[in-house]
Amino acid sequence: MGIIAMALTSCKEQAEQPWIVDRFDDIKIIRYEVPEFENQSLNDKILIYYLAEAAKSGRDIIFDQNFKYNLTIRRALEKIYTSYEGNKECPQFVAMEKYLKKMWLANGIHHHYSNDKFKPEFSREWFSEQWDKCGVESQVEKETILEAIFNENLYAVRLNQAKGADVIATSAGNYYSGLTQKEVEKFYNKMIKRAGNDPCPIMYGLNSRLVKENGKIFERTYKIGGLYGEALERVVYWLEKAKEVAEEPNKSIIELLIKYYKSGDLRDFDAFNVAWVKNTDSNVDFVNGFTEVYGDPLGYKASWEAIVNFRDQKACERTKIISDNAQWFEDHSPINPAYRKEVVKGISAKVITVAMLGGDTYPTTPIGINLPNSDWIRKEHGSKSVTIDNITYAYKKAAQGGGFAEEFVLREEDRARMKEYGKLSDDLHTDLHECLGHGSGQLAPGTTGTELGVYSSALEEARADLFALYYLGDDKMVEIGLVPSFDVAKAQYASYVMNGAMTQFSRIELGKDVEQAHMRNRKLISEWAIELGKKDNVIEWVVKDGKRYLVVNDFQKLRTIFGEQLREIQRIKSEGDFEAGKALIEKYAVKIDQDLHKEVRERYYALNIEPYSGMVNPEYELVMEGDKIVDVKVSYPANYIEQHLHYSKNYSFLPSLN
Ligand code: ZN
Repeated sequence: MGIIAMALTSCKEQAEQPWIVDRFDDIKIIRYEVPEFENQSLNDKILIYYLAEAAKSGRDIIFDQNFKYNLTIRRALEKIYTSYEGNKECPQFVAMEKYLKKMWLANGIHHHYSNDKFKPEFSREWFSEQWDKCGVESQVEKETILEAIFNENLYAVRLNQAKGADVIATSAGNYYSGLTQKEVEKFYNKMIKRAGNDPCPIMYGLNSRLVKENGKIFERTYKIGGLYGEALERVVYWLEKAKEVAEEPNKSIIELLIKYYKSGDLRDFDAFNVAWVKNTDSNVDFVNGFTEVYGDPLGYKASWEAIVNFRDQKACERTKIISDNAQWFEDHSPINPAYRKEVVKGISAKVITVAMLGGDTYPTTPIGINLPNSDWIRKEHGSKSVTIDNITYAYKKAAQGGGFAEEFVLREEDRARMKEYGKLSDDLHTDLHECLGHGSGQLAPGTTGTELGVYSSALEEARADLFALYYLGDDKMVEIGLVPSFDVAKAQYASYVMNGAMTQFSRIELGKDVEQAHMRNRKLISEWAIELGKKDNVIEWVVKDGKRYLVVNDFQKLRTIFGEQLREIQRIKSEGDFEAGKALIEKYAVKIDQDLHKEVRERYYALNIEPYSGMVNPEYELVMEGDKIVDVKVSYPANYIEQHLHYSKNYSFLPSLN
């Protein structure tokens, strides 16, 4: 381990930003802390330790799910990286190090957000030479791997969602093998049809790879004894230990999860989820399984992820107030009364402190969780919504002092409000979005909820965001003691429209459209609001010294506009008005003004703030007295490279090809 992180910051900056431990390409790496861990009970600390080991043990799975040669490539790069004896300052080695860091961040060789394959900045010849010199052992021919890395046209996109394309045949993801989109759709439609009117339908295809071999199409299920069995065995090994120390209901919940990993039966997974969603009382909680379907262009297959967490007591009081008032919010929503829910149910609101991230949530992480995804379970038993406070806090800390506000926020009064209320307003926005927004409203009779097709995710996110934006500025928020004044909403409104109509474009390559659902939703809301407020000059573009700024002139009117937008988006959802939804998205959410895009990127990159972030996990250590565990200690490593090499050495259980 020769090279220390390629930090670009000066010592002075590092002193100001100890939260950032590494930076490369468009990425910054942040460490997060686990406040109050020391004050948990010994039993909970041990439970967290075992669940954390389980979370780390499935790391290889997500690499393999993202692309069939990812594990082979990662191992080859790590082998060369650790046994290289040449000059480590040489541009080829430095470029390979950057590539490897990007690969760890994305759990593969495709960008985690744009899905495009990384372009290596080291040469094919140099890499090929090192491969031989360092004695890389591989089940796959060297030439095949060189092609995978260096041939731009091969495996170019992990997840292709382009209109008119065969999204399965053209995606490099490893959820399907040898199949076309038509074949996959036919396979699952048949399966869904055969199930008929099952009131509790499983999520078909969720935990398997669909394969076509010798003309036969079949599923290879992720389970012990099946696909990814070697890693799942280790996951279960730690879950067994966790079960030993867990109290009810966690003990039974972990038992159900173990049963599912052994059987691979999605009915078992549902049984686990039903028990899991009902448990809102335990201090320690976790996600561990094949969960989110964003990586599959058709949305059947889930990536493996894990999160271990415990309750953030203080912040929980905040969301309890929100959920206690859920019915009031629903009854006063500015939507058509026919589309309000008469009785709001199934809301459980909780703020958590993350203790460990694994699989698809590491190193890039969500800031909220709303699970399970099964529709019938959500309907019958509700869902668990949580926001992750310590992760949000780490993001905030890492963003401070980067000169961002000075560059993009014109007025000092806005900057001051963002500084004072930024965290509170973001937290409340997330709480309102997750705890109330998604669960609010109802469909008109005859609407099934599937009408909005490819536009549904962006419209649904817009609905939840608008709910949050509208209520953040309500007097009710002051009345129930969540905010001191309307200034909190002002801070959020100013930063929201600036981000949606401007600064978020820094994350998109020039010439490309906005594709990601959350980004589309923010652009939609912001640009549509600018349009709606035009006649009253509610939001204004101001040019100063050749730079563009967005300024909100009338915050109360903007709030009214958010209400109008919410009303319309709710109508579109309730009535399943595909054409209206499509028109809004296509008009406001997709195309970026090219001049503005260029300007934003130039100004943003001049600040040297990377648009994407990843996390470094904390580490836990058992303190023993003889063979008795007397404590668990947490520490915060500050070296991204060491953490990944450590994981690859100690938590890598799959063969290179699966
Ligand atoms: Zn959402």
